[in-house]
This record gives sequence, structure tokens and C-alpha cells, in this order.
Amino acid sequence: MSKPVVSLVNFTDPRESVRKALELCDGLAGLDKNDKILIKPNLVSWDFDLPFPPYGVVATSAVMSALVSILYEEGFRRLTIGEGPLMIPKTIGRAMFTVLGYNKLQEKYGVRLVDFNEEKFEKVNFDGLKLALARSVLEADKIINLPVLKTHNQCLVSLGIKNLKGCLDRKSKINCHGREHDLDHSFPRIPGKLPVALTLIDGVFALARGPGHIGEAYRKNLLLASKNILACDIAGAELMGFSAGEVEHLAYFAGLTGADTSLSALEIRGESLEKHRFSLEYDWDWTTEDTGPVAFQKAGITGLAVRKYDSSLCTGCSKMYNPMLILLMSAFKGAPFPRVEVITGKRQKASPGFDYTLLFGKCVCSLNKDNPDIRQAIAINSCPPDKDDFIAALREVGINCDYNQYVAFRHYLYNRYKPENGFDPGLYSL
Ligand code: SF4
Repeated sequence: MSKPVVSLVNFTDPRESVRKALELCDGLAGLDKNDKILIKPNLVSWDFDLPFPPYGVVATSAVMSALVSILYEEGFRRLTIGEGPLMIPKTIGRAMFTVLGYNKLQEKYGVRLVDFNEEKFEKVNFDGLKLALARSVLEADKIINLPVLKTHNQCLVSLGIKNLKGCLDRKSKINCHGREHDLDHSFPRIPGKLPVALTLIDGVFALARGPGHIGEAYRKNLLLASKNILACDIAGAELMGFSAGEVEHLAYFAGLTGADTSLSALEIRGESLEKHRFSLEYDWDWTTEDTGPVAFQKAGITGLAVRKYDSSLCTGCSKMYNPMLILLMSAFKGAPFPRVEVITGKRQKASPGFDYTLLFGKCVCSLNKDNPDIRQAIAINSCPPDKDDFIAALREVGINCDYNQYVAFRHYLYNRYKPENGFDPGLYSL
């Protein structure tokens, strides 16, 4: 039996590189000129209030533009770009399309731009797990999947299979992080019911400790492409230093489809994967006692136990998690915290022996509402938690956070990427 083909090419000139990646894996062979083609980039989030470095977080506009122009040149006219970004508090899809220059693709090539969050969704039964998919996704004849080469602090990697979670409505996304269905065994069911014809991984940048902007991006100048979504993800994971067998959602998907997760089961065309292989961390170091990030320990913070998030924490809370940590750090002036435990997500329960229990988010508030181990609750009972509520609730118990320190941190994150090191914001506009 022939092996699934994955192309691996250097990213130099966007159009030449994308074309080469497609040609080496014969990536357009399964598409018909009359097909309604949906391109699904990874545009998980953006921040319009504070500096936001997009490197390794969202797909580059350079790759998207090259892909669209090649498809148009090849005679494909029924093109849609669709994504359902994170809703905090409302959807930002159209604003993202504008900032990324997609409106120019609409003008020049007649591409339809769809924010899935504004569409109707239809429930699909995935062997007992009901998830609602956007109508444009269900109506597509073929899907071209355009993820980013990134790690993920809950799933190790976030590539083609994970990118399709963005086709779900908000409730279904939350259910993927549920108590009954754990993350690694929920979203991998999605591709099996969709006509994914091609996966093109944008590796212009790769992101350590992803999936968001607080991770660290590296310029890598690579593209991977395959008609086989699993094969593309295996190669992408291997490139970042993970064996696909250790990535539970890849192993699970392979099990569903009877496929092999070993690199030797693929045919890599173009560049040598071994030559380009690197190693990225996917998560932050936590103390062995589970009292918080190692950085807190190094800063001398005591009297505070931040329990490490688990996979039941969905993207809304995850996005607020780092601001929460930075705000807690800002409140540390040398004296111990007044014996505070911080818990999150849908599974964590308060431990005895703390004076305060900080319940971060509606789910953990609900789970612990009658917990006798809580002496005094600091409840941030919203979904997702709101930073102003958080600051106000802590102030009430004498813990004073300084939001300006969070703003300064965001400037630091943005300013560490220098144009001379390849961090060119022009790759995210047209
Ligand atoms: S409170 Fe947090 S964990 Fe619960 S559903 Fe909302 S975002 Fe998800």
C-alpha cells in the first residue's frame, strides 16, 4: 500500500513556496472546479485593546493570500474563508478579517468571508457526542485546512485536527472540554465527518507554549501539506519534537481510522524533516506541590496555591488565565498572601486548610457551591471570568492588583519580537 505523502518546503517567496508545497503532495488533485471550497484558517483570537503579537498564533496572511491566488489561477471560483474565533464577549471574526487584509481577497478574487459565530449551526452526532457545526462547514464540498505550526498547553500540539474545533458553536466547544468527554477524545471525531481535502500547515512561525500570544514564537520558514490530515499532523508534531504516538489526540484519531502514527509510515517529499526538526516546550513549569507556576516560587510568592489548570478549562477561561496570574503577581509586595487557594475549570475541588478559596469562573463556582472545605469564597462567577470583577473581588479581601502591570507585561510580550529577527508584521496584512 502506498504511504500518505506530506510535502515539507522552505517558505521563501509566498506564492512559489505554497505552490511547491501543493505540487509535491498533489494537493489540488481531489478538488473539482465546481466545488464549494471552504478554507479554514486558524484565527483563534486577537486583541484589539492591547498589543497582540500574532506570530505563531494565527495563520499568516501571506500564506492565505498565496493559497487563494493559486486556487483562483487554477480556476476555482467558489471560495469561502471561514472561522469562528473566540467570543469575548462577542465575536470578532469580521474585525479579524479586516485587520488581516482578507477584505482585499474578497475584492480581488470574490472570496466569501464567513464568521461562523454569525451563522446557524446544525447538530451532528459523533457516535454519541453531539456537536453543532457551522452551516458553511456542512455545506462545503471540500475543505482546505490551514492551521499554524504550534504547541498547545493542553493537547501538546495544535495542528490540522485541532484546527477544525473552530468549526463548532460556542456551546460545543465548551462541551469538548466537558466532564464526560475529555478534550483529546472529543474534537478528533470532527474530521471523520468532513470533506477535508487538503491540510496546509503554516510554519512561517512556530509557537512554543501555545496556543495563544503568551507563548514564544520562532521564525521557522516552513510549510507542510498533505491530502491526509493525520499524516500532515504527524509530520508537524515530529517537526516540533513530539512523537505522534505521545500526542493523545493524534493516537486517538489514528485508532478511529486504523492508521499508523509512526513517521516511517509517511512519505516526506521536499525538505528533510530530520534536518529541520527542532524541540519546543508545550507548557509552563509548575511546582511539584502544585502551588503555582515555578516563576511564582522564584519570585518568592508564598501563601498562595494556584492549582494547575486541567483540560476541562475551556478557551474562554484559558484566555483569562494568564491575566489572572499576572494580576496576582502584581499584588505581591513581599508579604505572604493570606492563605489563598485558586481553582479553575470543571473538575477542581477546594482543599481544606485555606482562609480563602478563589473560584475562577462559573463552572468551578457551581461545582464547589456547597463545598464545606471553603472558609471564605472569592467567587468570580462568570463565563468567562471578567478581569474587572476579579480585581474588585480581590480588593474586597485586601489583595490589591495593579492592572497597569498586566498592560506593561503585554507591551513586553509584543516588543520582544524584533523585525531584524524575522518578526515582520507585514506577513499579517495584505
Ligand atoms: S466558566 Fe470557564 S471553564 Fe466554564 S464554561 Fe466558561 S470558559 Fe469554560
